[in-house]
Amino acid sequence: MNGTASLRLPGALMDDLRAHLFCADGDEHGAVIGASVHQTGRGMRLLARRLFLAEDGIDYVPGERGYRMLTPGFVLRCVRSCSQEGLAYLAVHNHPGTDRVAFSCDDMASHRRGYPALLDILDGPPAGALVFARNAVAGDIWLSPQDQIELDHAVVTGRTPQVLYPAPRKPRTADARYDRQARLFGDRGQAILGSQKIGIVGAGGVGSLVNEYLARLGIGHLVVIDDDQIEDTNTSRVVGARASDWKPRWLSARIARRLGWKPTPKIRIAERVAKEANPDIRFDAIDADIVDPNAADRLADCDAIFLAADTMRARHVVNSICHRYLIPVWQAGTKVQVNDSTGDIADVFSVVRHLVPGESCLWCSGLIDRTRLAEEAASPDQRAAQTYIDEIPNPSVITLNAVAAAHAVDDYLFTTVGLTSPDTRAEWIRHHPLAGYFAQLKTHSEPDCRQCGEHLAAGPLEPLPVRERSQ
Ligand SMILES: [Zn+2]
Ligand SMILES: [Zn+2]
Repeated sequence: MNGTASLRLPGALMDDLRAHLFCADGDEHGAVIGASVHQTGRGMRLLARRLFLAEDGIDYVPGERGYRMLTPGFVLRCVRSCSQEGLAYLAVHNHPGTDRVAFSCDDMASHRRGYPALLDILDGPPAGALVFARNAVAGDIWLSPQDQIELDHAVVTGRTPQVLYPAPRKPRTADARYDRQARLFGDRGQAILGSQKIGIVGAGGVGSLVNEYLARLGIGHLVVIDDDQIEDTNTSRVVGARASDWKPRWLSARIARRLGWKPTPKIRIAERVAKEANPDIRFDAIDADIVDPNAADRLADCDAIFLAADTMRARHVVNSICHRYLIPVWQAGTKVQVNDSTGDIADVFSVVRHLVPGESCLWCSGLIDRTRLAEEAASPDQRAAQTYIDEIPNPSVITLNAVAAAHAVDDYLFTTVGLTSPDTRAEWIRHHPLAGYFAQLKTHSEPDCRQCGEHLAAGPLEPLPVRERSQ
């Protein structure tokens, strides 16, 4: 296993924890976090799922060796609850200070005394401790009595994600090619972009633009998922597509079909564009549908995901990944609405929806249609039998796509490099070019929604709504 660990905390959980740790008395306070454990190629990700606040004087008392301690009874209640749910146990307290924090010698001695026994109760997931200052966190994670790792960083996945480290890190000076944008984002912002792994679902009209923008901005690692090939009708919108990707000029369409000529897959066009923009980029081209479990898994350790495929199944899978794995999503799309009876254009819009884990959800906002979801899940034969023949292509124009794609990437950029104000509201923006206005839409999360509530931060404990794995 890659020997690093990071922690992701939903914004609301972190708000509750902050209010408890940093209340007006300025003293130390205690809590426990139960976290699901996701082993990834980028190290272990701990996903904060449960928060147990220790009541001062009852659960958190003057220590026998250190300043304060969690009572054995509180520890046992929490560790049993974590064990039942298959969660890691993380004891939490705070130290004074703002930007740097570390465990005391007493803290470390108490870990050595206590954690081997807690590991026995947990029987699998790690036990450990976190110590917070206002803008910093350190962690000591015990995988076994012999094997401990330090927490590298924590991400609070609110509207404006916040990254906490044990101490401030000095970023490298941005590469000269990024000089102009680094004047806005700073070396720190550029370093964040270079360290990011971003998923793009759909490499068509909107996705191809998102791919080009992210590659040129200096994102370190892209994972692009699409199982489609270029057609002559989409070369007008897929950036980087060449006429020859559809078929050689000297070959007629009829002969090309007869010869079984294969046009270029859209992911290969995206890869070409990304690598021409930045030869150092790491690019994973996934030639699969998002409901393929192996494709969906590749998104679960990303830092952000762009959803640019307009099927209900893609919405359902990506919405699930957002809330289960605490990964922010930007859905970008366009729509031309045609009046069925008259054939007139009723409305045209570009829309961007920023999904914040636990806060805004495509199910709660009524944007996943159960009937269409079931129709999409049916096999091609079943669909034909259901006379589901919705094959009239929708109108689509590159400029509408560009508004949505640029808006989505802009919002990702400014929240990720920390330029948006923390109290900016996560409203969705829809641009109506015919009527000439932008609409702000309220985001939504229902208290009893399983997707953004019960399954929040469940990670691998709750399987994704994908196709069954073939054995
Ligand atoms: Zn301490
Ligand atoms: Zn929901």
